[in-house]
Amino acid sequence: MSINHESTIGWAWRWFVGELSECYEKQEASAIGGEVFFRCLNLGSDQRVIRAGEGLAEQTLTMLQHTLGLLKQGMPVQYVTGITTFFDCELEVCPGVLIPRPETEELVLWAASVYKKRNVDSGIRILDVGTGSGCIAIALAKQLGHADVYACDVSEIALDIARRNACNNKLDIHLFLCNVLEKGTGEAPLFDCVISNPPYVRFSEKMVMKPNVLAHEPELALFVEDDDPLKYFRAIANKALMWLQPDGLIFFEINEALGAETVKLIGDIGFTDITLKQDIHGKDRFVMGRK
Ligand code: GLN
Repeated sequence: MSINHESTIGWAWRWFVGELSECYEKQEASAIGGEVFFRCLNLGSDQRVIRAGEGLAEQTLTMLQHTLGLLKQGMPVQYVTGITTFFDCELEVCPGVLIPRPETEELVLWAASVYKKRNVDSGIRILDVGTGSGCIAIALAKQLGHADVYACDVSEIALDIARRNACNNKLDIHLFLCNVLEKGTGEAPLFDCVISNPPYVRFSEKMVMKPNVLAHEPELALFVEDDDPLKYFRAIANKALMWLQPDGLIFFEINEALGAETVKLIGDIGFTDITLKQDIHGKDRFVMGRK
């Protein structure tokens, strides 16, 4: 690319998508390009055509060039822009924090619908364990108006981002540092609901994962050793027995290959009325149990 003073927004857009087409399918290049390019330029969709003839400062072109480099290296778009959407919330993300997945939106939908059906919108106390970006806690707090939502994580980076996300979404979430694998439950109030999307991908399953997930997303949030793939579920369910009110509910997102094992584990720990639920792709993806 030659950066010159006649470079216009329209020209830069064609150049950006053209370069991306070298590594992505045409349609994907244009979708990814649209998401990143116009966000970098802070241009709403109404201004894209109107301002296409406008010139771009050299500084802006250099920034676009840098951004293009990141995308070509396979960095997920959400890390490049620093933003993602989850449910109806805009959330910040950064490397070190898992990018929220669509299946987790289904988990939120399920939990929210259980409480909406019961008509106990107010006064419910919820704990999200391993909150990451804060996506589950924030989306549930938004869905369930008056719920009192707590969320914890073992990562300071995650807690920082979750704090910013709660604040940007104008929600008051109680965030705290916690390693569920350590003994003890600490000082915690009693909850009506404990919910979690813990690491559940076995290291042996790495080969079926996308290279850009492996290269850029935090291992800590995703993977677990093959010899004890349910260790987070065991730790969280055991603690949840202390954290939950009688009749309180536990919700998990799970490894699709370990549905029966996860159900058995939670039953052995003492939960009842256990439900295994499939995601929209028909895979065993969620479990709910009652204390
Ligand atoms: N569903 C995520 C993925 O496959 C995994 C999330 C998790 O380990 N909790 O990338």
